[in-house]
Amino acid sequence: MAEKTNWELLVQLFEKINMTDDRLDVICEDIMDRLGPLARNLSLAKVAIQYIIFPNVFQLCGSSFKCEHIFDSAVADEEEAVHISYDTIRHEKCDVSLYPVRGHEWDDLKYRSVRMLSQIVSIYMTRGALINDLKRTPFVDILTGLSNSPGVIMSGTGLEKEGKLKDFASVFFNFKNFNYINKKYGVNNGDVIIKQHALRMFQFMNQAEGEIAARFGGDNFFALVKKEHLDDFLILLNDVEIIIDFKGEKVTLPIKVRAGIFDSSDENTTINNMTTNANIACSFTKKLNMDLIRFTPDMFDTAMHDKKTLIIFPAAMAAKEIIPFYQPKYNIHTKRIVGAEALVRWFRNGRFVPPGEFLPALEADGSIRKLDFYMLEEVCSDLRKWLDAGIEPVRVSINYSKLNLQNPRLADDTIAILSKYDIDPKYIEIELTETSGFEDNERMNRFISKMHEYGVTISMDDFGTGYSSLNIFKDLDFDVVKLDKTFIDNIERDIEKDTVIMINMIKMLSELKIEIIAEGVETDKQLDFLKEHGCELVQGYYFSKPVSREEFLEKIRKG
Ligand code: C2E
Ligand code: MG
Ligand code: MG
Repeated sequence: MAEKTNWELLVQLFEKINMTDDRLDVICEDIMDRLGPLARNLSLAKVAIQYIIFPNVFQLCGSSFKCEHIFDSAVADEEEAVHISYDTIRHEKCDVSLYPVRGHEWDDLKYRSVRMLSQIVSIYMTRGALINDLKRTPFVDILTGLSNSPGVIMSGTGLEKEGKLKDFASVFFNFKNFNYINKKYGVNNGDVIIKQHALRMFQFMNQAEGEIAARFGGDNFFALVKKEHLDDFLILLNDVEIIIDFKGEKVTLPIKVRAGIFDSSDENTTINNMTTNANIACSFTKKLNMDLIRFTPDMFDTAMHDKKTLIIFPAAMAAKEIIPFYQPKYNIHTKRIVGAEALVRWFRNGRFVPPGEFLPALEADGSIRKLDFYMLEEVCSDLRKWLDAGIEPVRVSINYSKLNLQNPRLADDTIAILSKYDIDPKYIEIELTETSGFEDNERMNRFISKMHEYGVTISMDDFGTGYSSLNIFKDLDFDVVKLDKTFIDNIERDIEKDTVIMINMIKMLSELKIEIIAEGVETDKQLDFLKEHGCELVQGYYFSKPVSREEFLEKIRKG
């Protein structure tokens, strides 16, 4: 049989080349097998390949692949070999070494042909690596290189089918104060933090055991770790410090997380349970102000309830099922109404839903801000009607969730509503609760001073519930302090420490010219105590529960 020409051999090489596989070893093997006849024609004795993938989003730790193929055992020595390095389009490296048959020297044409063969090898290897990435794209989070949620479902379903999920715990977490960090250091630094945190997490995972690190967008992360690995993982999560460049300086930021955990020994646990339940547990960390919470089944019911609330609440506002009730505030001596607090009520299916049943969901989701503005508008609208009817109203306070402080236009937005109804600011008071952290205080102060410029009163609600610091009166310019019901209840119980604190608190606030009002006053004993120690204003069931706008109007009419 006549010997085949190089051209025929080249055609044969390309004709049958494997275009479907993306595994580098299979591709390499395939090409080398096909190269054989050509290599012999060209006196090519050996080809050695090293393919280096530098760390990228598809391979967070990078990888390297080596293979060698001998076509003729008479391989020339290293000195005779030709080494060519290709930079691939993804800035990876494909190093190819070509060895002639010992004693053979390539002429120019042969050398170019051999070189071309090495190029073909490199092209096919790169193609394989790219296909590999392309196939993984739908399952990878492009910012961090971790799995995304389809990626978790895909890998997790594998574990689920093998009944292995019972050996795993799932963790859903996000960063504490990430909004603040993003705002202070910029979103680019926010991305740096997310990426570096992701890398730490990825390096911790034992991928071979099936552990998964994933990002579900924003600063929401998910991990599937072996149960025996969970404690170490939780330690890692709260032991991350990230260094960023900020205004030319290196800043070290300790990153803390809030995490929800789920694990089950049920053989039938699904990957869907693992993600959903850890996520639900995580949503409770914010509500309960805790850093770490394990899932319990009742959380699922609450989460479903909250979800339903969030869906139907906007329509309830539009349909005016949401209304303000007014709880009068009284002067202890004159027993006259001197103000009122607007408290939200939801009239649904013939009953009033207590705020405790829907406010936590709105607070967790942020839509409480809409509610607060809705309430402000309802109150302003009521005040306008009363004023138009010639009734002199009292100052009404509206509760503002601290989430409102994230809105830099909060003061302007508030004033806009007052203007819309042409309400004199002397009729409006805004109740805020204590915040934690200096940044929040700064925001609060900016808001308070703008409201003061306009003439609106600002009160501090629920004073005494948290670990209140006296500095708050120095740092923040409140007009009114509302002593929380828990304080007032302790008068009833003769708790000595509380009564001493109360007496001195009333004295101090009076000297600071801060108005003081006691909340939740229910008994004669409480009333007498407050009277004796100089607290003149009270709000509580002793005088009146929160009442509808009609009943309230009746009350102010009567004075
Ligand atoms: P808060 O602002 O401290 O309001 C006082 C709460 O104590 C009200 O509960 C009121 O009904 C209740 N209360 C008043 N006097 C007495 C008393 O003598 N005895 C007892 N047992 N309770 C008394 P409510 O209406 O259930 O509201 C609970 C909380 O929900 C409020 O506490 C406030 O933090 C929040 N809230 C209510 N309406 C709104 C709103 O429109 N926006 C926001 N952001 N929060 C609101
Ligand atoms: Mg209040
Ligand atoms: Mg209160």
